[in-house]
Amino acid sequence: LKVTFTPIHRRDKGITGTIALLQDATEQEKLEQSRRQFVANVSHELRTPLTTIKSYAEALGDGALEERELSERFVGVISNETERMIRLVTDLLHLSRLDSNQAPLRRRATKIHDMLDEVADRFSFQLRQKSIQASVRVERKLHTAWLDRDQIDQVLDNLMSNAIKYTLDGGSIELIARRSSDGSLLEISVKDTGIGIPKKDLSRIFDRFYRVDKARSRNMGGTGLGLSIAREIVKAHGGTIALYSELNEGTMVTFSLPLLQEGGEPE
Ligand code: ADP
Repeated sequence: LKVTFTPIHRRDKGITGTIALLQDATEQEKLEQSRRQFVANVSHELRTPLTTIKSYAEALGDGALEERELSERFVGVISNETERMIRLVTDLLHLSRLDSNQAPLRRRATKIHDMLDEVADRFSFQLRQKSIQASVRVERKLHTAWLDRDQIDQVLDNLMSNAIKYTLDGGSIELIARRSSDGSLLEISVKDTGIGIPKKDLSRIFDRFYRVDKARSRNMGGTGLGLSIAREIVKAHGGTIALYSELNEGTMVTFSLPLLQEGGEPE
């Protein structure tokens, strides 16, 4: 709590009173603290691939170029690290557009079953590679929703790609759509039989750059921003997102969106 006192002066009467201003500084400080943390994280995340690129480029310059096989490997590393930086910067730009509300929603009537089928189709190659079964289940009479298809596809892609990344070969993933019990919300879940998340990490899992296992996530090509982006998009739709997980059993991420008819009226 920040307290400031300002005396009240009256002409020829001197000080006649005091204004005490009580400000809740904690909220502002917390915001400032998290902004600083974010800048530190971004710098670190960019610096890591840059350092790698620099040292491999130097090794090439110092003679590795003479050896065909070695130089091909080094160029491969440089190219991978560059791709990681591009992914990171793309995610950061996306987040910043969401933060500043520069990504206005373009809601359209969307067929829910088709939307989920298409997510599974987009990932069919990766699913087959890991022998993971994906299934889609949509509650009866749940046909269309009024939402920004591109943005919700991004949410689904982020959740699906996590589910695949953190599920061992031979596991399964379910995409489920249903109404909330009072009928006002569309609830979509991505449920996997993967490695799960330890209890102690659950509260921070939507934080920017938070990962359970940094090295593992990096190796899988993760930026640590997927869930944060998903949460911002869901928020922009007036919805909420939650993650439930049991270590070594699996994870389910559910987001709920107000079920709107065309034009934005509640159903
Ligand atoms: P990343 O790019 O690292 O996947 P996310 O923001 O998408 O970043 O996820 C944050 C972290 O949450 C991941 O690094 C991972 O540790 C954990 N996580 C997310 N989804 C799952 C899942 N389905 N199963 C297990 N862990 C998950």
